[in-house]
Amino acid sequence: MALGSNLGDRAAHLAHARARLGALPGTRLVAASRVEETMPLGPVAQPPYLNQMVLLETSLTPAELLAHCLAIEVERGRARRERWGPRTLDLDIVRYGEQAVRQPDLTIPHPELRNRDFWRREIAELEGKHV
Ligand code: ATP
Ligand code: CA
Ligand code: CA
Repeated sequence: MALGSNLGDRAAHLAHARARLGALPGTRLVAASRVEETMPLGPVAQPPYLNQMVLLETSLTPAELLAHCLAIEVERGRARRERWGPRTLDLDIVRYGEQAVRQPDLTIPHPELRNRDFWRREIAELEGKHV
């Protein structure tokens, strides 16, 4: 899962996300990458992001996991105003094991994985961390 924040206390939003994800039913937080700062992508001018990739082990289905993610974003006061605009917390499911998902509201692997070098870097870091 990719964690991102560019509004408010960014580090606190990421810490909340890690704690909540690791406490979801049937779920364990196995490893976390370093937190890194990245410049915003896309057409909207906005502050820089803090990003982090985490590895979870879960018995939740992808759809269940997504529903929890959206709820956790709302807990941090996320408001959806414009697409790709600034946000307190963004939780994206980047990969789910080897599974592929194609539903109207959920695509896994995340379609932007190929375009986001920092995600790929963070995943490589995680792969070295978990045993
Ligand atoms: P991007 O997905 O390009 O990083 P974003 O994160 O800003 O953009 P959001 O507005 O946070 O996009 O999400 C819009 C919708 O994307 C979510 O409500 C969710 O249904 C859908 N979605 C599709 N695939 C995924 C995925 N793999 N992880 C999280 N959300 C996804
Ligand atoms: Ca995103
Ligand atoms: Ca998102």
